[in-house]
Amino acid sequence: MAYDAKRRSSSCGDCDHQMWEYQAVMSGALATVEEHDLPMAWQTKRASVRKLIPAISLFGVAALFCVSCAVTTPVPPTRPALPPTVEAAPTLTVVPSPAPTPVLPTPAIPPTPNLDPASYRPAMRPEFAADVDSLGDVPRYFITLTVDPDALQATGRERVRYTNTDATALSQVYFRLFPSAPGYGGAMTVTRVLVGGQPVTIQLEQQSTALKAPVSLAPGASADFLLDFQVGIPRDSTVGYAMFGSTEGVLALPNFYPVIPARDESGWHIEVAPDYGDETFNPTALYDVSITAPAAQVVVTSGTCKSEAGVWHCVSGPMRDFMLAMSADYQSVTKDVDGVTIRSFYRPGSEAGGNRALQVAADALRVYSRRFGPYPFAELDVLETPTRAGGIEYPGLVVIASALYDQRAGEGDYFDFVVAHEVAHQWWYSLVGDDQVNHPWLDESLVGYSTLLYYEDTYGKAIANQVLQQVFEEPYQKLLQDKRDQKVDQPVSAFTQSDYITVVYRKGPLFFKALRDAIGDNKFNAFLKTYFRQNRYGIATPERMLAAAESVADKSTVRSLFDKWIESATKP
Ligand SMILES: [Zn+2]
Repeated sequence: MAYDAKRRSSSCGDCDHQMWEYQAVMSGALATVEEHDLPMAWQTKRASVRKLIPAISLFGVAALFCVSCAVTTPVPPTRPALPPTVEAAPTLTVVPSPAPTPVLPTPAIPPTPNLDPASYRPAMRPEFAADVDSLGDVPRYFITLTVDPDALQATGRERVRYTNTDATALSQVYFRLFPSAPGYGGAMTVTRVLVGGQPVTIQLEQQSTALKAPVSLAPGASADFLLDFQVGIPRDSTVGYAMFGSTEGVLALPNFYPVIPARDESGWHIEVAPDYGDETFNPTALYDVSITAPAAQVVVTSGTCKSEAGVWHCVSGPMRDFMLAMSADYQSVTKDVDGVTIRSFYRPGSEAGGNRALQVAADALRVYSRRFGPYPFAELDVLETPTRAGGIEYPGLVVIASALYDQRAGEGDYFDFVVAHEVAHQWWYSLVGDDQVNHPWLDESLVGYSTLLYYEDTYGKAIANQVLQQVFEEPYQKLLQDKRDQKVDQPVSAFTQSDYITVVYRKGPLFFKALRDAIGDNKFNAFLKTYFRQNRYGIATPERMLAAAESVADKSTVRSLFDKWIESATKP
């Protein structure tokens, strides 16, 4: 997730966070957006910044407003009405036949999915194609989906091969129904659940956002699930970041399918997260998805697709989410960077922004590949969508707010910053996963520092230092002055929406600066490469990050900086 660029909404309530409305004049056109979290320094000091960072200066400050918190935004009247998923679906239970000869239900079971790892290779760069062979028993999703954008409905069937990789037996497997989550504003109804071809009784939990299916899975054993589902799609959603739904001709459907969440020593991660911050925490999986949509729709997804006769068949590399978006209005430009096809999709009128997004994504991909490790997938897509976040990350695909496309200007402006931020999430969150709900700093704080590295390698240290001061250091100093400093490593829910941004996105990156200053460039670079290599396709934790740092640098130095910056509420 990047920085909110929220449209102003109704009441302010207990809104203590900083938002600014600003105007950007581009090519004679006037665009107004509101921005949550853009540092005041970035705006008020733009005159001085202009001398150093010409492009950052393109924002003009018009007024200062406090706007309503997303959490107080009422549910839109257009929230789709679907019949609720049954709590303990009795119709899904096997009912003995009264006939003299017992007859078990004989549901139509689709053919066994193709589990050949080679089928996913089109989603990989050739030199990383073998990665799909060495993943082990990750979940394999096979999804067929029909989308009706006019009716605001999607109907799907999902088959999942899930293997118990734990040392103990499993008696249940959870699926998360994200469209029904508070931050999504849609509705998911599961109409049928089979395990091993047999109907089972399921239970819904967590405000009907988690489905529990019974299994009997010994360590190393696998189960085949089949779930039929329907998704009600909100129109013009005002919920959360407005990341899910149909708005202005763009359909954005992150997590449109029942998804198996991460499971660790604390159990299944099915908790309902706040509608700010990121909500998913999933293990890496492999996806095979067929999407039927009206012929006029341009379909864009995670992974790599082929379209034929109105059906888009897509496969993914090792990814922890599968994102789907479509629009009849999308146009695109494409660039190849070291074997990665970068595609930038934009709407009519946003051509300059679409081109700029392509260039920034290409530069960022080069910088991060060199700094952290290679991007293994064949494609990276950048999409313009009407989200109220500045941008949102998904594996192999990032979305950037339409509101920002009108402000595209050139090197270093806020549009660039958001694109570089989201592309960095391909390393931190997508390839190296983390618990975004309970330890959000692991990806967001490192993404913040990674964005500085983009500026350093693209424009030089002087400009990177200006961004450091204005985007990170000054908001942190203000946090101290306001006596609102907090430890960085906390769940999203522990922060107000404003403090979440300032502490995790502003203060957190300063830990990595302090670490680099203390151990030097060579060890710092080795740390990031090691951390990436050790956790690629897996799930990182604070301890795993520390272990990577301690493998290349003095342990007491690493620990003391970590304690001061991440675990304490005062500046060292
Ligand atoms: Zn982010």
